[in-house]
Amino acid sequence: MAKTKNFDYTIIGGGLAGMQLALAFCRDAFFDNKQIAIIEPEAKVANDKTWCFWEKGAGQWDAILLHKWDKGMFYGPEKDIPMNFEGYSYKMLPSLNFYNYAKAELAKNANIYWIRDRVTKVKGNEIKGAQETYESKWIFDSRVPEGFEKDANSITILQPFKGWVIETENDHFDPESFTFMDYRLGHENKTCFTYVLPINKRKALVEFTFFVPELVNDSIYDKKLEEFISNTLHVDSYSIKEIEEGVIPMSSYSFWKDNNDRYIKIGTGGGWVKSSTGYSFKNTERKVAELVKALKLNTIPKTSFWRKRFRFYDEVLLNILHQQNKKGPEVFERMYAKNEAHKIFKFLDEETTFAEELKIMWNTDQLLFIKSVIDVLKR
Ligand SMILES: Cc1cc2nc3c(=O)[nH]c(=O)nc-3n(C[C@H](O)[C@H](O)[C@H](O)COP(=O)(O)OP(=O)(O)OC[C@H]3O[C@@H](n4cnc5c(N)ncnc54)[C@H](O)[C@@H]3O)c2cc1C
Repeated sequence: MAKTKNFDYTIIGGGLAGMQLALAFCRDAFFDNKQIAIIEPEAKVANDKTWCFWEKGAGQWDAILLHKWDKGMFYGPEKDIPMNFEGYSYKMLPSLNFYNYAKAELAKNANIYWIRDRVTKVKGNEIKGAQETYESKWIFDSRVPEGFEKDANSITILQPFKGWVIETENDHFDPESFTFMDYRLGHENKTCFTYVLPINKRKALVEFTFFVPELVNDSIYDKKLEEFISNTLHVDSYSIKEIEEGVIPMSSYSFWKDNNDRYIKIGTGGGWVKSSTGYSFKNTERKVAELVKALKLNTIPKTSFWRKRFRFYDEVLLNILHQQNKKGPEVFERMYAKNEAHKIFKFLDEETTFAEELKIMWNTDQLLFIKSVIDVLKR
């Protein structure tokens, strides 16, 4: 019989959350004498995602970024709004840059074990893989819980998208400025937008995205991208260099409900995707820092009652998108027209005061927000 392998910490899934957590372990001397495993079935050699995020000033991933912008535009159905960033930059990181960097860093640490296996079951401190069985004092699991798909009580909005990296024959783009959201090309009264990330004058990532309660027919994305590129960007001649697609769940589901003091869900599976935006890259950084701090105190992170207000705001916005999906473009236009972008970024980063939060929501659409607050309170 094969001998069970024992670890202090085991991370299930070597994706964004798993690799960020492992990197944090190897950057802190507290974990030097811990045996740490990452169990991941894939080789992580494909550029399967492009992560974008905003942050103020320099950040820990700057050396591996593809591009960044200090200027951006928001196009609503009615208004063109230049965004005031005031110190924030919008940064673009191809996932392969991140995987290569993380794998190289992790390989320098003899106490970190990268295991190619697929976890099938976790019971107590035992982890069953397709190849072997492992035991671990602490388990960090980035698999999305099965209960999420079946759950009918939470509010869930899906963010399906498709993007093309295109190259044009002539100069077309301003690499200093990007389009954060463009709502001018609608589809059947649904909340949908396009964004444009120019890498140089002839190359850009153009993505078409929905925020919808149910998936939309796959055939729509290519048509919308073609339409946007020719009618809005006025580009006639281009070639598609790369394609990116995916679906991000934005949900009020309690991903953390199976957590205990030795088993913690992380990443999308742990609710680390901000449910009102679908962004999770920076949130992962914050959650990893909280987790590492707690582990050093032999505990797990707890969210205070007062901080839970941000979950409530997320739910209020999700509820609007769920109940009145066609209102999305108007809601986002008002939000960005009446509040400066840097204040919204601070709010979405959950760093605002209660007064700042009320102001942002008041400036957006009082009646709609009040009605949604009542709906959410009644649930
Ligand atoms: C295409 C795409 C683009 C995105 N762009 C952005 C963006 O611009 N900005 C942003 O903030 N967020 C973005 N997101 C959302 C989010 O940041 C990513 O989904 C992110 O990768 C989530 O991190 P994660 O670790 O939870 O999941 P992943 O990075 O997907 O990692 C999960 C890992 O678990 C492994 N795994 C799965 N099953 C098992 C198993 N049974 N046993 C062991 N391992 C297993 C998988 O192989 C995978 O490597 C994007 C999402 C997608 C899909």
